[in-house]
Amino acid sequence: MMPLEVLEQAQKDLLCYPGAGCSVMEMSHRSPSFEGILHNTTDTLRRIMSIPDDYEILFLQGGATMQFSMTAMNLAHQGDTFCYMQTGQFATKAKEEGARWGNAVCVGSSKEDNYSYIPKCENLPENAKFLHITGNNTIFGTAFNDYETQLPSIVLPQNGEISKVPLVADWSSAILGKWIDVDKHGLIYAGAQKNCGPAGLTIVIIRKDLLEKDVDPVVPIMLRYKVAADNESMYNTPPTFAIYMAGLMFDWVEKNGGVKAMEEINVKKSSMLYDYIDNSKVFANPVNPKDRSIMNVTFTLPSKEATEDFLNLAKSKGMINLKGHRFVGGCRASIYNGMTIEGVELLVDTMKEFEKNYK
Ligand SMILES: *Cc1c(COP(=O)(O)O)cnc(C)c1O
Repeated sequence: MMPLEVLEQAQKDLLCYPGAGCSVMEMSHRSPSFEGILHNTTDTLRRIMSIPDDYEILFLQGGATMQFSMTAMNLAHQGDTFCYMQTGQFATKAKEEGARWGNAVCVGSSKEDNYSYIPKCENLPENAKFLHITGNNTIFGTAFNDYETQLPSIVLPQNGEISKVPLVADWSSAILGKWIDVDKHGLIYAGAQKNCGPAGLTIVIIRKDLLEKDVDPVVPIMLRYKVAADNESMYNTPPTFAIYMAGLMFDWVEKNGGVKAMEEINVKKSSMLYDYIDNSKVFANPVNPKDRSIMNVTFTLPSKEATEDFLNLAKSKGMINLKGHRFVGGCRASIYNGMTIEGVELLVDTMKEFEKNYK
């Protein structure tokens, strides 16, 4: 969901962006109007996430999935060793892409328990070029909620020094919904479509020293972070309309109190669901409580039929997209920033109604 205000602003500007004499979709990406949009969008993101000056913000394409490849291709040479925490479907895909490039090592997996918890990171080699994690596991509803206990100290900065092994994190489904300490990372990436606007834009936040690595000559020009950074994300035509929409989302987050305020609301929304589910006899959540996501709340019912019946009841009340991912079944409420407390209240009330009538 995107906030209604944001969609209405886009509607207002759709035919003619103020001062430009045309729609954002019709502008040259080299025009002063678009450059203004790009700079404001970058600056607002830097403010709301408190991104330090020694990090570059890049607006790329290809989705979070392209980052599965780009991270390995830019931070390691072919055949180098780098590591992955296997905490779900996207984490596994990231590792598979990394394995095309080098020695992609799994240093922690919860696959045996259907990814219902965040495993410990074991035996991370000191010469690893990076450690990749999926910060928030969208499909399974888990998250890295506490780096200090979940990650080894060699990936975290100590005494103000950068870490030995850079931490690379896919925060696609929680960016702007949960506070992230940027300075604990070498690189953060996120597909925009979960919490930052429409599809078509990928956000990369990278520590500047990592841009200076010498990159394997076979890496195509469009897949090089340095090229994107040197060209202010405009080596070629960027996804202008998606950047404009993300800018509106960033403004909305800032106007509504910033990322910490968003997190507070998301904790409240997810607690309403978890509290109800934990006391329910019909609904259940399999995730280790301390590893639960505040963005994606998964829940199961006793049977396929009950799940179908519940989804139909929810649909009759206007709630769609509650079906769980095909790999897990059950249900999943993705309660990104655009979802209101009232929306979650309606869902809990509907679950209560279903439970009352369940024989
Ligand atoms: C949705 C998602 C992806 C895939 O994103 P695309 O932009 O479609 O490539 C990757 N990682 C996570 C954590 C996601 O939630």
